[in-house]
Amino acid sequence: MTRLNRRQFGFGAGAVAAASLAPARFAIAEGAANIVIIGGGAGGATVAGQIKLASPKTNVTLIEPQNQYTSCFYSNYFIGGLRTIQSLTHSYEGLKGLGINVVHQYAAAIDTAKRSVKLSGGKDVAYDKLVVAPGIAFNFDGVEGYTQDVSEKIAPHAWRGRDQSKLLHRMLQTMPEDGVVVIAPPKGPYRCPPGPYERACVIANVLKVARPKAKVVILDPKLTYSKQAAFEEAFNGIYKGMIEVHLSNDIDDQSLAKYDPATGDITTKAGLKVKAAVANIIPPQKAGQIALDAGLGEGDWCPVNPENFTSTKAEHVYVVGDAAMSADMPKSAFSAASQARVVATHILEGIEGKPHQQARYRNTCWSFVAPDNSVKIGADYVPGMQAGKTLLVPANSFVSKPGESAELRKEGALESAAWYETQTNDMFQKTVKP
Ligand code: FAD
Repeated sequence: MTRLNRRQFGFGAGAVAAASLAPARFAIAEGAANIVIIGGGAGGATVAGQIKLASPKTNVTLIEPQNQYTSCFYSNYFIGGLRTIQSLTHSYEGLKGLGINVVHQYAAAIDTAKRSVKLSGGKDVAYDKLVVAPGIAFNFDGVEGYTQDVSEKIAPHAWRGRDQSKLLHRMLQTMPEDGVVVIAPPKGPYRCPPGPYERACVIANVLKVARPKAKVVILDPKLTYSKQAAFEEAFNGIYKGMIEVHLSNDIDDQSLAKYDPATGDITTKAGLKVKAAVANIIPPQKAGQIALDAGLGEGDWCPVNPENFTSTKAEHVYVVGDAAMSADMPKSAFSAASQARVVATHILEGIEGKPHQQARYRNTCWSFVAPDNSVKIGADYVPGMQAGKTLLVPANSFVSKPGESAELRKEGALESAAWYETQTNDMFQKTVKP
C-alpha cells in the first residue's frame, strides 16, 4: 500500500511524525474492509479519495444526496460578483472513477450497534468503519420572526449550499441605491469564523462602485472576532463610511431580538433599530442532524479523540469536519481536509495492522479584503495535555496584521486562489478520468 503524500498546503497524511504510538487496535484484511462515509464535502470527500487512492481494494462507499457540490468556501467571492457559481461547483465523477461507490441519497439513520447506515431509499449499508462528515445544521429559535422558511425566501443566511448564495447575490443586485445590508454573525463556534467580515468586504467592494450611497451594517453578538485588526483597518480605510460595525459587550448586546420579514426592520437586544434592504442573518449552528440523531453529540457538536477524530460516543465511528468538536481548531474546509487525512491514515493503518503514528493537523484561512488583498490566519495543531485533558493544542500560529505591504497582501490573494484549486482537486480527484 502506498503511503499518503505530504501535500503542499498541509501536513498531508497527518502521519508525518516519526514516533509511533500504540499498535493498531483492530486489523481488517485489505480487500474485505467496508468503509462508509456520510457527507461528500470537504471532510468526507477527502477521506474517501485518500483511502481509495492508497488502498484500491478497500470498499469505500460515500453517501451524499447532492449530485454536485457547491463549496461554501469561496462563496463570498460569488456573492460579491468575483467568481461564477459554476466555478465553485464540482462533480463526483473523479471519485466514482477511482472506484468509490458514490450513493446519491441521504443517510437517514445510523445504527452503531449493528454497524449499519439506513439510506433514505430504505436500504441498509453495513460498515467496518464509519466516517460521519455531514457539516452543519442551524438553530433558528433565537430571533423572533426569523425562521428557516424566511431564510430560504427573504433573508438568506447563505451559510450552506448553493440556493441561498444565489438569492443573496440576486438581492444585492436589485437592492435600492441607498439601501442597508445587515450582516448578523452568530456567536461561536460556527463555520468559518472570519467569513462574515470577509462578506462585509466583498459586498462593500461591489457597492462602492454600483451603489456608493448604500451601506453595510454588522450587528455582532461578540466583542472580538477573527482577523479583527486587519479587517478593522479595511473597514476604517478602504471602506470608510460604508461599513458600520456594532459589537457587543456586557452592557450592549447587539445580537438580534427581532426581524420583521415584511418591512426589513431589525431590532437588537440592546434596542438598536436598523431597516435592512438585505438582511443576511447567520444563525447559530450545530453538527449536521444525522450525527446528533445518532447519539454522537454532546450539546451541539460531536466530541472526538484529538489523536484520530474517533467519536468518543460510539466505537468504529469517526466524526470529521465542522460537525466535530475540535477545540481551538476553526471550522474550515482546510481544517476538515487536514482532519480527513489523519482519519484516512488511521483507518489505513488499521487495515494494515500497523502501529498508529502521531497525528498533526493544520489550518490556514485566507480572507478577501479587496482585490489583490487577502489576509490570513493559521496554526498547526497537535494533541496535547491542557488542564488535565487531551486537546488539540495550537502551535506556530500566525495572523495578518494591519499595515502590511500591498505585495504581501497580493501574495496572500495568490496563495488563496492556489489553495482553492488544490483543495477541490484533492476533494474530487479531478485528475482521475471517469
Ligand atoms: P460540508 O463541506 O458542508 O460537507 C457536508 C456534506 O454532507 C454536504 O455535501 C451535505 O450534502 C452532506 N450531508 C449532510 N447531511 C447528510 C446526510 N444525512 N446524509 C448524507 N450526506 C449528508 N473554509 C476554508 O477553509 N476557507 C475558506 O476560505 C472558507 N470560506 C468560507 C466562506 C463562507 C461564506 C462559508 C459559509 C464557509 C467557508 N469556509 C471556508 C468553511 C467551509 O465551507 C466548511 O468549514 C467546510 O465545508 C466544512 O466541511 P464539512 O465536510 O464538515 O462540511
